[in-house]
Amino acid sequence: MKKVLGIDIGGTKISFGLMNDEGELLKTTKKSTELNREDILDTIIEGIKEFKNENPIAISISVAGFVDTNQGKILVSPNIKGFWGFHLKESLERVIDIPVFVANDANMAALAEKWIGSAKEFDNFVMLTMGTGLGGAVYDSRTGFLEGSTFQGSELGHIIMYPDGRDCGCGQKGCAEKYIAGSSLSANYKELTGKELQGPEIISILEKDENAKEALKKVSRDLAIYLSTIKNIFDPQAVIIGGGFSETSEYWLENTIEEYIKICNRPGDMKIMTGKFLNDAGIIGACRNAFINMDKKDA
Ligand SMILES: [Zn+2]
Repeated sequence: MKKVLGIDIGGTKISFGLMNDEGELLKTTKKSTELNREDILDTIIEGIKEFKNENPIAISISVAGFVDTNQGKILVSPNIKGFWGFHLKESLERVIDIPVFVANDANMAALAEKWIGSAKEFDNFVMLTMGTGLGGAVYDSRTGFLEGSTFQGSELGHIIMYPDGRDCGCGQKGCAEKYIAGSSLSANYKELTGKELQGPEIISILEKDENAKEALKKVSRDLAIYLSTIKNIFDPQAVIIGGGFSETSEYWLENTIEEYIKICNRPGDMKIMTGKFLNDAGIIGACRNAFINMDKKDA
């Protein structure tokens, strides 16, 4: 049975998962890392060594940012400075003798949801990953992922929502990622109170703290405005919301959908739902990507 090793480079940790060609995750592990190029590379290589005896036929990496999937090169990396213009595939293939694939994390999450998750039934959908940042993927069964002319398309987190708004790691100001990602709840709360609280803490005080409620309401409303833009550009069958923040959807999703229906000119039948996979979406999608690419090579 063929096996591949999927690797998901997250905010402060790197996840590894070995998968067979029937889609079963056989073994997973996580490693902490500092957010710089050398530490990340060392951690990846260390992790790969641990799976060596399993004989994976390929390594497939899911990473945030704009990725040239042909070259396995990261073009823009809002969260990891040393990754701008970095040839990740080439660097790894110098020390590893199996093929390496690199792709954008939101696309990989979408691939996982399309394969065996919430988007299984849809031929045309948009994936949003609300984590530290806001990732986006646009998928159509006939054409695959929208990558644009220079692999910088469907970066939905960098649509400007508030001109001259909060500074974004991409160089712009007021990007959607600064208002409707997991970290936005903390940012909203800080604007209201001057206090720094993490997202989960704010969720836990919703009942007794008006500012916490207000901070969450703003994320929810900004998401509704944003969904109306998504509907008008892509007209998808569904928007699938994944990433860590989707775990708290019971506190805001209903409100977001109500607001979206009020705001949007033609809300239509566009489904708005959470993804099936939270932490494993990147790994599962990356593994699926490796199998698809290896099949192309064999053909
Ligand atoms: Zn941005």
